[in-house]
Amino acid sequence: MRKQRNRDHSFHHRCPKSRNGSNDSYNLIDVPVTKHRAWHTLFENNTAIFICRLINDVWLDTSYKFVCVPKEDHAEATVYARTLRKKRRK
Ligand SMILES: [Zn+2]
Repeated sequence: MRKQRNRDHSFHHRCPKSRNGSNDSYNLIDVPVTKHRAWHTLFENNTAIFICRLINDVWLDTSYKFVCVPKEDHAEATVYARTLRKKRRK
C-alpha cells in the first residue's frame, strides 16, 4: 500500500510492484483501506493464478470452480480499470 490519499482509501497495485507492476493509472486503483488490508492478508502479493487456486482450495463452495484466465487484449483491461475508477468516484 502506498500513495495514501486519506485515512479511508489507499491505492492498490493490481499487478504488484514486487511483480514488476507499474505506477501507471491502469495498474492503480483507489480502494477502501480495510478492504485493501484484507486483500493482502488473504492473498499477499501473489499471482492471479495462485490466488485462484487458493480460493478454490480454501474458500469457495466445493460445488463451484473459480477460473482465472489472462485477458487477450491488455487495452480492454485498461478500459475496464478506468471505468471502475470512475464508478468509485461517484
Ligand atoms: Zn495493494
